[in-house]
Amino acid sequence: MKASAFSYARATSVVNAIELLVTHGDGAKVLSGGQSLMPAMNLRLISPELIVDICDIEELRGIAVTGDVVRIGALTRHVDLLNSPEIAAHLPLLTEAIAHVAHPAIRNRGTIGGSLAHADPAAELPACMVALNATIIVRGPTGERRVPAQDFFTGIYETALSADELLVAVESPIAQNNSAHFFCEFARRHGDYGIVGLAAQAVVEGELLTDLRLAFFAVGDRPVLAGAATKLLNVAVTSAVLSEASKALGEELDPQEDQQASVSMRRHLAKVLLARCVAALLDRPELRSGESL
Ligand code: FAD
Repeated sequence: MKASAFSYARATSVVNAIELLVTHGDGAKVLSGGQSLMPAMNLRLISPELIVDICDIEELRGIAVTGDVVRIGALTRHVDLLNSPEIAAHLPLLTEAIAHVAHPAIRNRGTIGGSLAHADPAAELPACMVALNATIIVRGPTGERRVPAQDFFTGIYETALSADELLVAVESPIAQNNSAHFFCEFARRHGDYGIVGLAAQAVVEGELLTDLRLAFFAVGDRPVLAGAATKLLNVAVTSAVLSEASKALGEELDPQEDQQASVSMRRHLAKVLLARCVAALLDRPELRSGESL
């Protein structure tokens, strides 16, 4: 199918893009890499009157490390993240996760801003932002807002962005020296959206995991920061502790059924990922036996 007729404007600056969004309201859509927007338009799932192309706005591109914060511009492409030495050094979780986002052709065009604004609950990057405790920076007619990632995603394809706001950047604290990360997803083929996935980061102090952030994806309408399971893991982890955490995780997740997996299969896979994650973060392979819980 082809998209409905639409008007096109190439924004010259962030201010100009916001002016266009204010003027056209809900009828306008921002275009970044187009890897989600164009298929949705071609399938006529959406029919915007105006496309606001932001690809010429250089200030929205690039990766900068200042002190202990990494700032990533909204137009930074998936491939730029994958190849960035700064991201590999300071946010290794992201380097690992991005390799699972689609395929090279899509990673060459798709952007971090587009992925986060699109807010697919099965996407990798929203969960990574929640695991990293990142901040999403948005700009609108009244100025800039900084939204913690865990408050930014509000539902299936829904975010805290309003129609006249632009996602301009994300900022993430850099990984500490004693931190460890975990990323894994079950997908039918490498590059497909995950059936269930987990992005996690923690500080490892001896036998303890502190600051553990477990962000599951494809198990709800947005990335899910597991709270009850995390609290139970805030001690020296034994098989019994992991078993309790696994039970708590099953109770706090509310996954949906679709053609890929049933509710119970998603719960089971999330528990498998939890056991693998804790075993990997603590470097204790024997805890993987908890996979069968
Ligand atoms: P666009 O398509 O340009 O925009 C997406 C949405 O975000 C639109 O609603 C747009 O208006 C809005 N938007 C874009 N930028 C901004 C901004 N700066 N401020 C406000 N709103 C904005 N993604 C995954 O995460 N995992 C996958 O496994 C995966 N597999 C894919 C497989 C295929 C075959 C395809 C076609 C896509 C896949 N994707 C996957 C999606 C891909 O990662 C997209 O690149 C990404 O979701 C959107 O980025 P984009 O820059 O292309 O955004």
